Amino acid sequence: MSGMLSDKNIVVMGVANKWSIAWGIAEMCAEQGANLIFTYFGERSLKSLEKLISDAGLEGAMMVSCDVSTDEDIESAFKQIGESVNGIHGVAHCIAHANKDELRGLYMDTSREGFKMAQDISAYSLVAVTKQATKYMAEGASVITLSYLGGERVVMNYNVMGVAKAALESSVKYLAHDLGPRGIRVNGISAGPIKTLAAKGVGEFNEIGRYFKEKAPLRRLVTQREVGNAAVFLLSDMGSAVTGEVMHVDCGFNILGY
Ligand code: NAD
Repeated sequence: MSGMLSDKNIVVMGVANKWSIAWGIAEMCAEQGANLIFTYFGERSLKSLEKLISDAGLEGAMMVSCDVSTDEDIESAFKQIGESVNGIHGVAHCIAHANKDELRGLYMDTSREGFKMAQDISAYSLVAVTKQATKYMAEGASVITLSYLGGERVVMNYNVMGVAKAALESSVKYLAHDLGPRGIRVNGISAGPIKTLAAKGVGEFNEIGRYFKEKAPLRRLVTQREVGNAAVFLLSDMGSAVTGEVMHVDCGFNILGY
Protein backbone atom coordinates (compact mmCIF):
# COMPACT_ATOMS: atom_id res chain seq x y z
CA MET A 1 0.00 0.00 0.00
CA SER A 2 1.34 3.44 -0.84
CA GLY A 3 1.21 6.33 1.61
CA MET A 4 3.29 8.51 3.88
CA LEU A 5 4.07 5.52 6.10
CA SER A 6 4.24 2.70 3.58
CA ASP A 7 6.79 0.03 4.50
CA LYS A 8 7.15 1.52 7.98
CA ASN A 9 6.72 -0.59 11.12
CA ILE A 10 4.94 1.60 13.65
CA VAL A 11 4.36 0.51 17.26
CA VAL A 12 1.19 1.98 18.79
CA MET A 13 1.07 1.78 22.59
CA GLY A 14 -2.09 2.53 24.60
CA VAL A 15 -5.24 1.45 22.80
CA ALA A 16 -7.82 0.72 25.53
CA ASN A 17 -10.95 1.04 23.38
CA LYS A 18 -12.37 2.76 20.31
CA TRP A 19 -12.24 6.17 22.02
CA SER A 20 -8.50 5.95 22.74
CA ILE A 21 -6.38 8.60 21.02
CA ALA A 22 -3.99 5.73 20.25
CA TRP A 23 -6.73 4.15 18.12
CA GLY A 24 -7.19 7.41 16.16
CA ILE A 25 -3.44 7.40 15.56
CA ALA A 26 -3.53 3.74 14.49
CA GLU A 27 -6.36 4.39 12.03
CA MET A 28 -4.57 7.31 10.37
CA CYS A 29 -1.25 5.45 10.27
CA ALA A 30 -3.00 2.46 8.66
CA GLU A 31 -4.55 4.76 6.04
CA GLN A 32 -1.02 5.88 5.19
CA GLY A 33 0.17 2.33 4.66
CA ALA A 34 1.92 1.62 7.99
CA ASN A 35 2.46 -1.90 9.24
CA LEU A 36 1.04 -1.62 12.76
CA ILE A 37 2.20 -3.37 15.89
CA PHE A 38 0.20 -2.84 19.07
CA THR A 39 1.18 -3.07 22.70
CA TYR A 40 -1.65 -3.34 25.21
CA PHE A 41 -2.11 -3.37 28.97
CA GLY A 42 -4.53 -5.88 30.51
CA GLU A 43 -7.07 -8.35 29.21
CA ARG A 44 -9.84 -5.79 28.67
CA SER A 45 -7.65 -3.76 26.36
CA LEU A 46 -6.66 -6.92 24.50
CA LYS A 47 -10.34 -7.83 23.90
CA SER A 48 -11.14 -4.32 22.61
CA LEU A 49 -8.04 -4.26 20.47
CA GLU A 50 -8.83 -7.63 18.88
CA LYS A 51 -12.29 -6.41 17.90
CA LEU A 52 -11.03 -3.05 16.62
CA ILE A 53 -8.31 -4.73 14.55
CA SER A 54 -10.76 -7.18 13.06
CA ASP A 55 -13.42 -4.50 12.33
CA ALA A 56 -10.77 -2.33 10.66
CA GLY A 57 -9.56 -5.21 8.48
CA LEU A 58 -6.12 -5.14 10.06
CA GLU A 59 -6.04 -8.87 10.83
CA GLY A 60 -2.54 -10.14 11.36
CA ALA A 61 -1.38 -7.02 13.21
CA MET A 62 0.95 -8.06 16.00
CA MET A 63 -0.25 -7.51 19.59
CA VAL A 64 2.17 -7.62 22.50
CA SER A 65 1.41 -7.22 26.19
CA CYS A 66 3.39 -4.45 27.88
CA ASP A 67 3.02 -3.01 31.37
CA VAL A 68 5.18 0.12 31.27
CA SER A 69 5.55 0.12 35.05
CA THR A 70 8.15 -2.65 34.75
CA ASP A 71 11.45 -2.45 32.87
CA GLU A 72 11.43 -6.20 32.20
CA ASP A 73 8.06 -5.97 30.42
CA ILE A 74 9.19 -3.08 28.24
CA GLU A 75 12.45 -4.81 27.37
CA SER A 76 10.79 -8.12 26.52
CA ALA A 77 7.96 -6.47 24.52
CA PHE A 78 10.41 -4.56 22.32
CA LYS A 79 12.67 -7.60 21.99
CA GLN A 80 9.69 -9.60 20.73
CA ILE A 81 8.71 -6.82 18.32
CA GLY A 82 12.26 -6.04 17.21
CA GLU A 83 12.98 -9.68 16.44
CA SER A 84 9.71 -10.11 14.48
CA VAL A 85 9.88 -7.11 12.18
CA ASN A 86 12.63 -5.71 10.04
CA GLY A 87 13.38 -2.63 12.16
CA ILE A 88 11.08 -0.32 14.11
CA HIS A 89 10.46 2.95 12.28
CA GLY A 90 8.16 4.65 14.75
CA VAL A 91 6.62 4.43 18.21
CA ALA A 92 3.49 6.24 19.38
CA HIS A 93 3.54 6.32 23.20
CA CYS A 94 -0.06 7.07 24.26
CA ILE A 95 0.00 6.10 27.93
CA ALA A 96 -0.76 7.87 31.20
CA HIS A 97 -2.21 7.00 34.58
CA ALA A 98 -2.89 8.68 37.93
CA ASN A 99 -5.13 7.98 40.90
CA LYS A 100 -8.61 9.30 40.15
CA ASP A 101 -8.92 10.90 43.59
CA GLU A 102 -5.83 13.02 42.88
CA LEU A 103 -7.36 14.43 39.70
CA ARG A 104 -9.65 16.73 41.69
CA GLY A 105 -9.32 19.08 44.63
CA LEU A 106 -6.04 20.69 45.64
CA TYR A 107 -2.72 19.80 44.02
CA MET A 108 -0.99 20.13 47.39
CA ASP A 109 -3.01 17.16 48.65
CA THR A 110 -1.18 14.87 46.19
CA SER A 111 0.26 11.87 48.01
CA ARG A 112 3.89 10.81 47.65
CA GLU A 113 2.76 7.46 46.22
CA GLY A 114 0.32 9.09 43.81
CA PHE A 115 3.00 11.51 42.62
CA LYS A 116 5.46 8.68 42.04
CA MET A 117 2.93 6.58 40.15
CA ALA A 118 1.83 9.40 37.85
CA GLN A 119 5.45 10.24 37.06
CA ASP A 120 6.40 6.60 36.59
CA ILE A 121 3.63 5.56 34.22
CA SER A 122 3.01 8.87 32.46
CA ALA A 123 6.52 10.32 32.11
CA TYR A 124 9.32 7.87 32.96
CA SER A 125 7.75 5.22 30.73
CA LEU A 126 8.61 7.32 27.66
CA VAL A 127 12.26 7.24 28.68
CA ALA A 128 12.28 3.48 29.25
CA VAL A 129 10.29 2.76 26.08
CA THR A 130 12.56 4.97 23.97
CA LYS A 131 15.65 3.23 25.34
CA GLN A 132 14.34 -0.22 24.39
CA ALA A 133 12.73 0.76 21.07
CA THR A 134 15.82 2.53 19.78
CA LYS A 135 17.76 -0.77 19.97
CA TYR A 136 15.79 -1.69 16.86
CA MET A 137 15.72 1.73 15.20
CA ALA A 138 17.88 3.25 12.50
CA GLU A 139 18.32 6.76 11.15
CA GLY A 140 15.00 8.33 10.19
CA ALA A 141 12.98 6.65 12.99
CA SER A 142 10.60 8.69 15.10
CA VAL A 143 9.09 8.51 18.60
CA ILE A 144 6.01 10.48 19.59
CA THR A 145 4.13 10.92 22.84
CA LEU A 146 0.92 12.65 23.95
CA SER A 147 0.76 15.60 26.28
CA TYR A 148 -1.79 18.17 27.41
CA LEU A 149 -1.87 21.90 28.16
CA GLY A 150 -2.04 21.06 31.87
CA GLY A 151 1.72 20.39 31.65
CA GLU A 152 2.35 24.06 30.78
CA ARG A 153 -0.41 25.88 32.67
CA VAL A 154 -2.75 25.22 35.54
CA VAL A 155 -5.84 23.40 34.29
CA MET A 156 -8.62 22.74 36.80
CA ASN A 157 -8.23 19.33 38.49
CA TYR A 158 -5.38 18.13 36.24
CA ASN A 159 -3.04 18.42 39.23
CA VAL A 160 -0.55 15.55 39.52
CA MET A 161 -1.00 14.65 35.85
CA GLY A 162 -0.10 18.22 34.83
CA VAL A 163 3.19 17.89 36.68
CA ALA A 164 3.79 14.49 35.03
CA LYS A 165 3.11 16.06 31.61
CA ALA A 166 5.67 18.79 32.38
CA ALA A 167 8.24 16.04 33.02
CA LEU A 168 7.11 14.25 29.87
CA GLU A 169 7.53 17.36 27.71
CA SER A 170 10.95 18.01 29.18
CA SER A 171 11.88 14.36 28.52
CA VAL A 172 10.91 14.87 24.87
CA LYS A 173 13.59 17.54 24.63
CA TYR A 174 16.30 15.58 26.45
CA LEU A 175 15.56 12.42 24.44
CA ALA A 176 15.60 14.41 21.19
CA HIS A 177 19.02 15.72 22.20
CA ASP A 178 20.30 12.21 23.03
CA LEU A 179 19.05 10.66 19.81
CA GLY A 180 19.51 13.48 17.30
CA PRO A 181 23.07 12.39 16.41
CA ARG A 182 21.64 8.98 15.40
CA GLY A 183 19.02 10.65 13.17
CA ILE A 184 16.17 9.55 15.47
CA ARG A 185 13.52 12.15 16.29
CA VAL A 186 11.40 12.53 19.44
CA ASN A 187 8.33 14.78 19.58
CA GLY A 188 5.12 15.30 21.48
CA ILE A 189 1.58 16.26 20.54
CA SER A 190 -0.31 18.38 23.03
CA ALA A 191 -3.90 17.44 22.25
CA GLY A 192 -7.05 19.29 23.23
CA PRO A 193 -9.47 17.52 25.60
CA ILE A 194 -11.07 14.39 24.14
CA LYS A 195 -13.56 12.21 26.01
CA THR A 196 -11.66 8.97 26.62
CA LEU A 197 -11.41 6.48 29.47
CA ALA A 198 -8.38 8.31 30.93
CA ALA A 199 -10.01 11.74 30.54
CA LYS A 200 -13.11 10.61 32.42
CA GLY A 201 -10.89 10.24 35.50
CA VAL A 202 -10.28 14.00 35.57
CA GLY A 203 -12.78 15.77 37.83
CA GLU A 204 -15.35 17.94 35.99
CA PHE A 205 -13.91 16.90 32.62
CA ASN A 206 -17.21 17.76 30.88
CA GLU A 207 -16.92 21.30 32.23
CA ILE A 208 -13.34 21.59 30.87
CA GLY A 209 -14.61 20.38 27.47
CA ARG A 210 -17.51 22.85 27.46
CA TYR A 211 -15.23 25.79 28.28
CA PHE A 212 -12.74 24.67 25.62
CA LYS A 213 -15.45 24.47 22.94
CA GLU A 214 -16.71 27.93 23.79
CA LYS A 215 -13.27 29.62 23.80
CA ALA A 216 -11.02 27.72 21.33
CA PRO A 217 -10.47 29.74 18.14
CA LEU A 218 -11.98 26.91 16.08
CA ARG A 219 -14.94 26.68 18.53
CA ARG A 220 -14.96 22.90 18.68
CA LEU A 221 -13.25 19.90 20.20
CA VAL A 222 -10.39 17.98 18.60
CA THR A 223 -10.98 14.46 17.27
CA GLN A 224 -8.82 11.39 17.78
CA ARG A 225 -8.29 11.20 14.02
CA GLU A 226 -7.03 14.80 13.90
CA VAL A 227 -4.42 13.90 16.51
CA GLY A 228 -3.73 10.88 14.29
CA ASN A 229 -3.04 13.13 11.30
CA ALA A 230 -0.47 15.12 13.28
CA ALA A 231 1.06 11.83 14.43
CA VAL A 232 1.39 10.68 10.81
CA PHE A 233 3.26 13.88 10.00
CA LEU A 234 5.67 13.47 12.92
CA LEU A 235 6.18 9.74 12.32
CA SER A 236 6.74 10.16 8.59
CA ASP A 237 9.59 11.64 6.60
CA MET A 238 7.45 14.78 6.18
CA GLY A 239 8.56 15.72 9.70
CA SER A 240 12.22 14.94 9.04
CA ALA A 241 13.59 18.20 10.49
CA VAL A 242 11.24 18.35 13.49
CA THR A 243 12.55 17.06 16.81
CA GLY A 244 12.24 18.03 20.47
CA GLU A 245 8.98 19.76 19.59
CA VAL A 246 5.62 19.60 21.37
CA MET A 247 3.00 20.44 18.77
CA HIS A 248 -0.38 21.74 19.89
CA VAL A 249 -3.28 20.01 18.17
CA ASP A 250 -5.97 21.79 20.10
CA CYS A 251 -8.07 23.98 17.79
CA GLY A 252 -5.85 26.88 18.87
CA PHE A 253 -6.88 26.88 22.54
CA ASN A 254 -3.29 27.31 23.79
CA ILE A 255 -2.90 30.78 22.25
CA LEU A 256 -5.50 32.31 24.54
CA GLY A 257 -4.46 34.61 27.33
CA TYR A 258 -7.88 34.81 28.94
P1 NAD B 1 -7.04 5.98 27.18
O1 NAD B 1 -7.59 5.63 28.52
O2 NAD B 1 -7.77 5.48 26.01
O3 NAD B 1 -5.52 5.56 27.06
C1 NAD B 1 -4.63 5.48 28.17
C2 NAD B 1 -3.85 4.21 27.96
O4 NAD B 1 -2.82 4.08 28.96
C3 NAD B 1 -4.73 2.95 28.09
O5 NAD B 1 -4.63 2.18 26.92
C4 NAD B 1 -4.12 2.21 29.28
O6 NAD B 1 -4.19 0.81 29.14
C5 NAD B 1 -2.68 2.71 29.21
N1 NAD B 1 -1.95 2.42 30.44
C6 NAD B 1 -2.24 2.83 31.71
N2 NAD B 1 -1.36 2.29 32.57
C7 NAD B 1 -0.50 1.52 31.83
C8 NAD B 1 0.61 0.69 32.14
N3 NAD B 1 1.05 0.53 33.41
N4 NAD B 1 1.25 0.06 31.13
C9 NAD B 1 0.84 0.21 29.85
N5 NAD B 1 -0.22 0.97 29.50
C10 NAD B 1 -0.88 1.61 30.48
O7 NAD B 1 -6.99 7.58 27.17
P2 NAD B 1 -6.36 8.64 26.17
O8 NAD B 1 -6.99 9.92 26.53
O9 NAD B 1 -6.45 8.16 24.78
O10 NAD B 1 -4.85 8.71 26.64
C11 NAD B 1 -3.73 8.53 25.79
C12 NAD B 1 -2.72 9.63 26.07
O11 NAD B 1 -3.23 10.88 25.60
C13 NAD B 1 -2.36 9.85 27.53
O12 NAD B 1 -0.99 10.13 27.66
C14 NAD B 1 -3.17 11.08 27.89
O13 NAD B 1 -2.64 11.80 28.99
C15 NAD B 1 -3.00 11.85 26.60
N6 NAD B 1 -3.92 12.98 26.39
C16 NAD B 1 -5.25 12.81 26.52
C17 NAD B 1 -6.12 13.87 26.32
C18 NAD B 1 -7.60 13.71 26.48
O14 NAD B 1 -8.29 14.72 26.67
N7 NAD B 1 -8.13 12.50 26.39
C19 NAD B 1 -5.60 15.13 25.97
C20 NAD B 1 -4.22 15.27 25.82
C21 NAD B 1 -3.39 14.18 26.04
